[in-house]
Amino acid sequence: MAQVHNWHLGREMAYPYEAAFPERQFAFVFNINRCIACQSCTMACKSTWTFSKGQEQMWWANVETKPYGGYPMFWDAKILELLDRANPDGMAWTGTSGDDRRSPWGRFEGRTIFEAQRMLTPDSARVLGYLPTDEEWNSPNIYEDNPVGTRGVPGEYHKTGEALPEHKTWFFYLARICNHCQYPACLAACPRKAIYKRPEDGIVLIDQAECRGYRKCVEACPYKKSMYRGNTRVSEKCIACYPRIEGKDPESGGIPLETRCMAACIGQIRMQGLVKLNRDGTWAEDRQHPLYYLVHVAKVALPLYPQFGTEPNGYYIPPRWVPRPYLRQMFGPGVDQAIERYENPDRELLAVLQLFRRSSKMIFGYKIVEGPKTYEGTLRGRTITLYNDTVIGYGKDGKELFRTTVDEPIHVRSSQHANSI
Ligand code: SF4
Ligand code: SF4
Repeated sequence: MAQVHNWHLGREMAYPYEAAFPERQFAFVFNINRCIACQSCTMACKSTWTFSKGQEQMWWANVETKPYGGYPMFWDAKILELLDRANPDGMAWTGTSGDDRRSPWGRFEGRTIFEAQRMLTPDSARVLGYLPTDEEWNSPNIYEDNPVGTRGVPGEYHKTGEALPEHKTWFFYLARICNHCQYPACLAACPRKAIYKRPEDGIVLIDQAECRGYRKCVEACPYKKSMYRGNTRVSEKCIACYPRIEGKDPESGGIPLETRCMAACIGQIRMQGLVKLNRDGTWAEDRQHPLYYLVHVAKVALPLYPQFGTEPNGYYIPPRWVPRPYLRQMFGPGVDQAIERYENPDRELLAVLQLFRRSSKMIFGYKIVEGPKTYEGTLRGRTITLYNDTVIGYGKDGKELFRTTVDEPIHVRSSQHANSI
């Protein structure tokens, strides 16, 4: 095993291969607070990539209701349980190192899925994991909208009501795709080396000609985003809509487009881009890149289960009404700071949040032009001031893609067409 630096964990980590990083990395931020589980993303992916015979149970993009839902069923509870068993002394995060680039959330003390497996069975599989059963793949949307906590009487409002910071009865929607991890478990586990990470954008792909369907990737991916196809007897996974990323979609005119699931998002929760990396795999400073801003400057977006050790490239703005211990387990120790900042956004954060889904073209930079003050008041005991700033998104070539304002325009329908457009 090689030793690689995992900046999510703030430490060196054992991994079967030496570290190698792309110049730019496919990454995304999902704002869970906005997801309405309309499943437009799910169907956009399904109708593009997995509509064929043998792919019936494959949902490369899915949205599950937490805490009970999961596709495949119980995927995270199961891998967390395995990790628990492999860490009899517990897992913990210790202090912050002050090095924001290499250790923004402190140091993870515990074994990752790569280190735990070595400890349990040194000579066998390279990654701690399990193979889901056919039944577990069968019901992608099971437990939709099932809450946890005290229940109200059907048809009546909850007697005591709900209030932030944490609701007593709660659920939330977790939208998921492959994280195109920096240290992919699927790649690490493949005995045929059929899985590779593209040097140009870090997208993780399975070479369909090389794969022999051993399902080691399915077993190893802790997010269960590598899937086996029975009729071709090879495994498949999300390809990050790479023709769109490359600007080869017929509609793109040569401009990099975001993936289908991002572009279809009704709730405007999704933003995807290509972030610049340093030679050590950390994110290179790129102050005006919206993803860099959300992850490294505002620090509102956090990786999903960083303790697994794959350094996933999907980041989430956590749901603010959910009990914090649950969220800390899921997104690590940055949760409290992220929610505090999201609940009390400054002028720049409010403007950057407007960039989500104003265009399907990939944003490589933004600029804010200050506008007039439009509101002053108090919210949950704090003074707030709103400005109608304009935020401009720029493309790969530095050209303006679009501009939008913090105040959304109000459209009044004519009395002639009150109920339709
Ligand atoms: S999420 Fe799973 S399938 Fe995707 S790159 Fe990471 S380990 Fe591989
Ligand atoms: S399209 Fe957007 S809002 Fe709808 S389920 Fe998917 S992520 Fe959530």
